[in-house]
Amino acid sequence: MRQRCYCLTAHHQPLVRREEDVPEPKGGEVLVKILGAGVCHSDIHIWDGEYDLGGGKKLVLKDRGVSLPLVMGHEIAGEVAALGPDAKGVRVGDKVLVYPWLGCGECPICLRDEENLCLKPSSLGVYRAGGYAEYVLAPRAKYCIDLGGLDPAEAAPLACSGVTTYSALRKFGPAIADAPVVIMGAGGLGHMALSILRA
Ligand SMILES: [Zn+2]
Ligand SMILES: [Zn+2]
Repeated sequence: MRQRCYCLTAHHQPLVRREEDVPEPKGGEVLVKILGAGVCHSDIHIWDGEYDLGGGKKLVLKDRGVSLPLVMGHEIAGEVAALGPDAKGVRVGDKVLVYPWLGCGECPICLRDEENLCLKPSSLGVYRAGGYAEYVLAPRAKYCIDLGGLDPAEAAPLACSGVTTYSALRKFGPAIADAPVVIMGAGGLGHMALSILRA
């Protein structure tokens, strides 16, 4: 089976439409047919190849192990299309949000489910193929989170701006119920923080 994907092949250049083989899930992998993929501001930095840190300093993504060609897109929601022989916990047809912040999966940090802090990151759409395609491979079923009836296109950003702002809001603890909360900036994350705060 073939799929279309939109690939970053050179910085500051339009994404290139490509045809590729759909990956076949092996071991515990899960193949997800993409129904929604968000565009994050970080994708613009990846497209640039660097972050401007101010004061003339730059964070160059190549130095951090990000290499081209790359299918970007780390906000992904879709439908489970196929399972590797050892994949357990999801079924074909399940609608899921795909958790993208993957680590090596083996170190002590990953084993206590803090993969986003792993020193060998392997995030979808950053270090490995992400959501600007028809299918994406999740290395394990635990990264596929039940959408619970949410619209895939609306839910996709929960995987990035959603977890980022939820993490920040959660730091308030119980005080969030009675103290006023000031949200700085009304961009993507600001609006997401507002939605989560209301919820
Ligand atoms: Zn993002
Ligand atoms: Zn790790």
